Amino acid sequence: MACDSRDEHTTQFDWIQALPKVETHLHLDGSVRLNTIWEIAQTDSIDLGVESIEELEKICTVVEPMSSLQEVLDVFWVHQKVMNSKENIARVAYENVEDAFNDGVVLLELRFAPTFIAVGKDHLSYDDIIEGVLDGVEKGMAEYDIEVGLIGIGVRGMDPAKNKAALLDILKYKNGDHPMSNRLVGYDLAAKEAGFESDEFLELINTAKDGGLHITIHSGEDTDAAHVRNTLEILGAERIGHGVKSWDDPKVIDLLKERNSHLELSVTSNWLTKTVLRIEDHPIKKLFEAGVSFSINTDDAHLMGINLVHEYELIEKTFGFTKADFMRINADALEHSFLSEAIKAKVRDRYFRN
Ligand SMILES: [Zn+2]
Repeated sequence: MACDSRDEHTTQFDWIQALPKVETHLHLDGSVRLNTIWEIAQTDSIDLGVESIEELEKICTVVEPMSSLQEVLDVFWVHQKVMNSKENIARVAYENVEDAFNDGVVLLELRFAPTFIAVGKDHLSYDDIIEGVLDGVEKGMAEYDIEVGLIGIGVRGMDPAKNKAALLDILKYKNGDHPMSNRLVGYDLAAKEAGFESDEFLELINTAKDGGLHITIHSGEDTDAAHVRNTLEILGAERIGHGVKSWDDPKVIDLLKERNSHLELSVTSNWLTKTVLRIEDHPIKKLFEAGVSFSINTDDAHLMGINLVHEYELIEKTFGFTKADFMRINADALEHSFLSEAIKAKVRDRYFRN
């Protein structure tokens, strides 16, 4: 039966919307809704240097490729400014859980960088930041049928003593009695990788591991495959944020497979930061065909003006992935989640039973 293009679009949207998705790489501090930024700025008299929400949109979203990763990272500061109290941080965390649920996400791992959120805010402690995130996730999970894990982030270029202090605070909460304490499951290193060596972060990463956190690290985004190798071999990362440049070295691809590592891919993000110059240059399909495990993620949904359904539509249209392919990708992403085996088993039985 013939149908017009609108129906076709609706049909495509429906199956992608309905797919059970596992998102492992989403930055809380890079994904504040435009309306939320505007409302908090008004309520708390935060000067963002704009007069209207239209002007705000221009400075808090990246919709065209920028000249460098650094330029994209600069836009994060607009989102950072409104994460200015425990309550507002809880709101942003809650809204991220709500947005993920609306995209069909059944398991979300949300990450945040206490040291980055705290910059310029003497009144805000790491305790406030972590509690805000935990409170927001608690509210989100009470209202929506979704499992959430949390990943703390150490920031490259930040004072090492601050990264260490924030990590120790995350570990304190992980072992504490907040109802969401057991959701603090991972630790990451983010921001520019170029100019940094893995060894510089060995002690920090070992402290996270000793504290029982799983490790994922941004690598091979603004650097090359050799950095991914070091991230795997020196820091022992279980997962790699992006890792796009791994594709340039077949030996690193073999290493990823040998170690059963997992790449957290974000196609639009990689295009916006010029990690790839065109969407169709992204190695996602080649990685799939080579049997490398990966997940599909937004990275910074609101900052990049996208949602996860958009990413799936883009990937389906550009690379021809089928529903069965997406199911396999998500079933595999679930196995690489940092959440407990009990939680993963529940999600597996419900959505990914063959
Ligand atoms: Zn990221």
